Amino acid sequence: MKIHEFQARQLLSNVGITVPSGKMVTTVEEAHVAARSLFASGSKLAVVKAQVHAGGRGKAGFVKVVKSIDEALAAAKFMLGNRMKSPQTPPEGLEVNRLLIADAVDIAHEFYVAVLVDRANRTNTLIASAEGGVEIEKVAETRPEAIIRIPLDPVAGLQPFQARKVALALGFKGKAIAQAISVFTKLSALQRTTDASLVEVNPLVLTPATDVHPDGQVMAIDAKFDFDDNALFRHPDIAAMHDPTEENAAEMRAQEFGLSYVALDGNIGCLVNGAGLAMSTMDIIKLHGGEPANFLDVGGSATEEAVTEAFRIILSDDRVKGVLVNIFGGIMQCDRIARAIVGAAQTIGFRVPLVVRLEGTNVNEARRILDEARVNIPTMQSATDLTDAASKIVAAVAAEPCHTS
Ligand code: GDP
Ligand code: MG
Repeated sequence: MKIHEFQARQLLSNVGITVPSGKMVTTVEEAHVAARSLFASGSKLAVVKAQVHAGGRGKAGFVKVVKSIDEALAAAKFMLGNRMKSPQTPPEGLEVNRLLIADAVDIAHEFYVAVLVDRANRTNTLIASAEGGVEIEKVAETRPEAIIRIPLDPVAGLQPFQARKVALALGFKGKAIAQAISVFTKLSALQRTTDASLVEVNPLVLTPATDVHPDGQVMAIDAKFDFDDNALFRHPDIAAMHDPTEENAAEMRAQEFGLSYVALDGNIGCLVNGAGLAMSTMDIIKLHGGEPANFLDVGGSATEEAVTEAFRIILSDDRVKGVLVNIFGGIMQCDRIARAIVGAAQTIGFRVPLVVRLEGTNVNEARRILDEARVNIPTMQSATDLTDAASKIVAAVAAEPCHTS
């Protein structure tokens, strides 16, 4: 589960990491009030930031440093009135429903720091770079040596000598060293205590030297968390931060019916039982030159109603130009799937090619049901095995006339 930046900032602030103050707003009027009170309290600069579950906002124009209430208002109007598109969003972008209006800080340097579960290394790992900010992806690609990786002990976590080594390697000086060490230590503890798979601060900034802070101040001005969904039951406070408006609507609907559905970019909808079979179905579609439009595991105990809903979800995606049903009936009975196909054909209709491969429990009954209904489902073909199914659906989709609108 992801949370918004304003919520992430709160979690950081709760453990004593310095974060500039700010307010979350949902309308232009609220943005106006928040900006007015920031500037009235003596701020010279504010920052207006779209709150969406995706990064790359800065480059997309959805993080704007402003010098006046009017500028803040213009930025708020723009962000609430446009979809945010970045390499991290779907091509159509994301609707912006919330903004953060925060105190802006002067920046002397931008760093990157994250603590994440590194599956390849089977450890929690602290990742840091002195080249943080909006170009971090490019740095990771072109100059991986500019990124420090410190594997963390599963029991001890980040140890003081490691935190110090990272602070020095990043170039922190004087009193800023202790501040940086404190941030790294707190982030690493927070990742463990919240069961986060990722805690990322980018940028972690060092502010310019002042009389009060001659070595600058270390502050988090952007933060991202990704929590392990399976551990959320231990964190009701974090679970309460869930924002359903940020979820893919189809994925939410699927969840209600107990279906595991993940939308993808391709055009072949898949309806499969079992996560492993769903993965191999996606693989074999790709092997035959197609692109899956989704991952969908209906599970073993889905009702006919849930399977019909699964078809509804797949077919409501405009990009879907063909559907592949691949069922290996164990607990799931093939006839239940067959009835759902017939039901979906009646209530929704298959305008796109449909290839069905059924095997296992009650398969003969399923075949009988489909044979009877075949005249009413003209786009349906049967397949004898997985390879046959994949090649049939890829060929059928390729043969479809290209609809341009
Ligand atoms: P992201 O692009 O979605 O990661 O959004 P960020 O919150 O990281 O902001 C992007 C960039 O905007 C940062 O890397 C900074 O360069 C700039 N920025 C954000 N907040 C401030 C601020 O308070 N002061 C200044 N001077 N720049 C900021
Ligand atoms: Mg950022």
